[in-house]
Amino acid sequence: MTRAIYPGSFDPVTYGHLDIIKRSSTMFDQVIVGVLNNSAKNPLFSAKERVDMLKKATEELVNVEVICFDGLLIDYMKQNDISVIVRGLRAITDFEYELQIAQSNRKVSKETVDTVFLTTSIEYAYLSSSIVREYASYGTDVSDFVPEFVVEKLKKCFRISEA
Ligand code: ADP
Repeated sequence: MTRAIYPGSFDPVTYGHLDIIKRSSTMFDQVIVGVLNNSAKNPLFSAKERVDMLKKATEELVNVEVICFDGLLIDYMKQNDISVIVRGLRAITDFEYELQIAQSNRKVSKETVDTVFLTTSIEYAYLSSSIVREYASYGTDVSDFVPEFVVEKLKKCFRISEA
């Protein structure tokens, strides 16, 4: 049984992330979506909110589980018997960083961990959580980028912070 982890900030989850989750769920026995709880990043949504949004968006995918982790990814993987990291590649700009992380994860895990890259579906190639946050903060409609319930959460979030 191969268990894979798809780690990220998911602040918030976008259709680009969901595309990678759906595609990887057909490739592995189990896909764990790992929400990185990194307080240094000062996220818009709390780790719990990001986990809840991902759970809702993936509820129909039976072999997908959403968890929250902090600390080193490879430590979490070791403790939970996970051998594959899934990452999405949008553009060449993602590649350099991803290559470095993948190679160092392989080295420090003593070659027990591998990274699998899925290239973005062309319609989501430009999409990132930061673009979504930026547009939403100006009241621009982001319903092409994120599920409807995320649109509502973003609206609430920016209305509250404007008050
Ligand atoms: P971002 O804030 O850039 O959306 P995350 O840290 O949440 O990114 O990203 C988690 C993973 O999802 C990374 O591997 C990232 O490259 C990938 N990813 C993000 N957006 C997309 C997209 N539109 N298409 C494919 N992969 C994506």
